[in-house]
Amino acid sequence: MTNVTETVSPLASSATNSSERVDGVQSETLKEIGVLFASDADTADGALSVDVTQVKRVDERKHEVVWRNVIIFIVMHASALYGVYHIFHAKLFTIFFSIFLYSINMIAITAGCHRLWSHRSYKAKDPLRALLIFFNLTMYQLSAFHWARDHRIHHKFTDTDADPHNSTRGFFFCHIGWVLSVKFPEVVAKGKSLDLSDLYEDRILMFEDKYYFKLMPFLAFLLPTIIPMYMWNENFINSWCLAIALRMIFVWHSEWSINSVSHMYGMRPYDKNINPTQNVGVSIFAFGEGWHNYHHAFPWDYKAAEWGDYSLNFATAFIDLCAKIGWAYDLKSVSPAMIEKRVKRTGDGTHAIWGWDDKNLSPECKQNAIVLNKKEH
Ligand SMILES: [Zn+2]
Ligand SMILES: [Zn+2]
Repeated sequence: MTNVTETVSPLASSATNSSERVDGVQSETLKEIGVLFASDADTADGALSVDVTQVKRVDERKHEVVWRNVIIFIVMHASALYGVYHIFHAKLFTIFFSIFLYSINMIAITAGCHRLWSHRSYKAKDPLRALLIFFNLTMYQLSAFHWARDHRIHHKFTDTDADPHNSTRGFFFCHIGWVLSVKFPEVVAKGKSLDLSDLYEDRILMFEDKYYFKLMPFLAFLLPTIIPMYMWNENFINSWCLAIALRMIFVWHSEWSINSVSHMYGMRPYDKNINPTQNVGVSIFAFGEGWHNYHHAFPWDYKAAEWGDYSLNFATAFIDLCAKIGWAYDLKSVSPAMIEKRVKRTGDGTHAIWGWDDKNLSPECKQNAIVLNKKEH
């Protein structure tokens, strides 16, 4: 216990010191190291000279199991498996309905809980915030307020014991174990230190939080079970196993993969000093949230990725669509110049270059390239 506290505190103090030191540095230097805010750098020099791996290692400790969640997850996983077994006996409408629910749930998580409320990477008018809250209530997880609070802790104390899903505790813990166990005291303590005033001021968000356990059971479980039965004569088993269990299991595992797979497997083209990675598989299922190395380097970018490819980032497509009709505005992104500086300073050398005229291709590379059949001018 003592060791763990000691393990976490050096990072906290290092971050504080770095903030103080970086705050005193000229803005030009900040641009050079590729961070907008001092708090986004682990150390004043962006970990160029300080080994931060030591403070990210954790000791063994006991987990207090939340048995209610264990039972819910066993029932849901068993139902989902039965759903897979019965999928060819279900009506086509039930399958489409399940995919539709999965999609609006992922939009609630990615465009709502994550990019809007956790990171304020864009602003949303009342109708969009209300729509995202409605989408969020059609699945069982957390109210958007609680989601955003936990996620801000994750970014502030990534991969320490103050991070709710600390990936240095292994795949099982950061994927599902953290949901099945009581939060560590460090998570609760650091959570209290965060400024959540903007969230408290959002009346739509706070309305959902207040009535979450009254509205969610009706919209996430009851209604999606009844609709297929009454609208197209589906039986109860197919309705429950597909539209509820299998759909939610897909949502949960897609979401958890961001915390596990995208913190353990993949390249780190933007910052090799942090655990988060770029993972295309996670991006497909999690609507564009698998570009996690980029996201942790630049958490205020509404695309949560450098590129604007909609096929691997449905959440960006949704936000852009909302911006077109005026519901989303003040969309923040990162300039290519700042990305380039960050890539060169802290990247692992795997940053994608699409070809010859890519601006990230260095002049040295171009000079040393062999060009055959060169046209004489
Ligand atoms: Zn993360
Ligand atoms: Zn985030």
